[in-house]
Amino acid sequence: MPRYVVNNPEQDSDESSEEEEEQEQNGQAEPEAEEEEPAQAHPAKRQTISLQLGKGQLVCHVCGKSGHNAGFVGAAYIDCPNKPCYLCKKTGHTTMTCPYRVAPELGCNQSTSVSSDGILATLRNREQDGRHREVRRSHTKWLVETAVLRLHSRRCTCLEFHPTRDNIVVSGDKKGQVAVWDFHKVTERSVYNTNKALTNYIRFLPSSDGAACCSSATDGTLKELDIETGSHKELLNCNPGGWIEGVSNEKTWNMLYGMGVSWRRGMIACGDSQGRVFFLDRRQADPICVHQLHKKGNKVTSADFHPVDRDLLLTASNDWQAKLSDMRMLCAPLMPGHKGKGQIQPPIELFSMSHPKVVNSAWFSPVTGQKIMTTCIDNRIRIWDTLFNADQPADREIVHSHDFNRYLTPFRAEWDPKDSDEREIIIGRYISEDFGGVALHPVDVMDGGTGRLVAEMKDPNLQTICPVNKPHPRQDIIISGSSSSLYAWSPASPDEEMEDLQTLPNEAL
Ligand SMILES: [Zn+2]
Ligand SMILES: [Zn+2]
Repeated sequence: MPRYVVNNPEQDSDESSEEEEEQEQNGQAEPEAEEEEPAQAHPAKRQTISLQLGKGQLVCHVCGKSGHNAGFVGAAYIDCPNKPCYLCKKTGHTTMTCPYRVAPELGCNQSTSVSSDGILATLRNREQDGRHREVRRSHTKWLVETAVLRLHSRRCTCLEFHPTRDNIVVSGDKKGQVAVWDFHKVTERSVYNTNKALTNYIRFLPSSDGAACCSSATDGTLKELDIETGSHKELLNCNPGGWIEGVSNEKTWNMLYGMGVSWRRGMIACGDSQGRVFFLDRRQADPICVHQLHKKGNKVTSADFHPVDRDLLLTASNDWQAKLSDMRMLCAPLMPGHKGKGQIQPPIELFSMSHPKVVNSAWFSPVTGQKIMTTCIDNRIRIWDTLFNADQPADREIVHSHDFNRYLTPFRAEWDPKDSDEREIIIGRYISEDFGGVALHPVDVMDGGTGRLVAEMKDPNLQTICPVNKPHPRQDIIISGSSSSLYAWSPASPDEEMEDLQTLPNEAL
């Protein structure tokens, strides 16, 4: 039986007033209008419910035309006749009959490291990898072991595991809070009011006691935080004058988003809402430099340092690009307003990976850093098997439902850092399925080498969408952030797993 704990029972009324929570609970989703388009794209359109005009005349909220209806009814999706399939964006079938619903691997090129072609593949793998490795067996059934309900006062936006203390997870939320939770002791948690607005990323920093981490937030600050005491200090403030009534607006207010930390270089890279990336060393007051890596006016949605080659940085943005940059080309301070410094910056970009829509994240594979994985809101996870191919089309495009138009944290596929083959990936699913009469949004465990679905993690008590997920770096634990709560999943016992395999023939092994 899973152990649940509720953090703030008295906040019940507060909680249900939030728009996204209500929408998540009742499953009324309306596809199509994206929230996050690049500057040149159409402004986001949000419609809430189907209108009925006159005597029962229907107006479709997907295409805006009258005479029909479309959208989710529970877990079933009614297609708009004027639009392609909501999942794969292709025509010729409905969303409910989309072949990718049961086989996301359809049409995928297989990774060359997938040993499905006998002795030659085994020999090639041995040559490439140099030694025999145990093949990691994926778990096919996961159960919620513990949960902390309403840990946050608003929806969870990011998660990070402690680098050395196995049972500690740190999470951020829409209000700017940072929470620390011990998922083995369940009731042990702290919540700090670190930021004034949405905490976008949390990353741990090298420190003697392991308590230092930093957060990037929509209030435009990058802060160093002590998770033991909650004390924090500002490393960067993009809006030092604060919000000035009548002067400040959405264009002048600068927000901080994608953020990565290089432990090897002792460096922080933090992207903003203007397409720029700040490079900082926490021992010095001012940033080292700032580079316009992405198109002006577009959010930098993620920043990731290469795990082995400390000269490489990978960023993603609302400008529909993921970019690989060479840190050796960084130059001396180029902060606006610094005297005597030239404004000409050398190109640090190596490759740009174009996408058809906004890229939510781009990550190097966690062990060798040889692969790149991006999550794009065109419902595709893209994987490049080697960095050398990063200027070519992706080796694999996996169709997966993560496009949405609600107030949710953008979905990001995450690598499982324990998988030395660098194949297992975790991502929350937007579209729901009917599981015994209940509409659930599973968290998917997938094989990035083949595109196959390995496991769908679901629990009848968890009916909200889980956009934020992180696999543990050392243990078989996955934490999901859903609404204001956190859930810790662990693999089912072998007996329970067998039961599941007998009832779910479609699940890949
Ligand atoms: Zn329609
Ligand atoms: Zn389809």
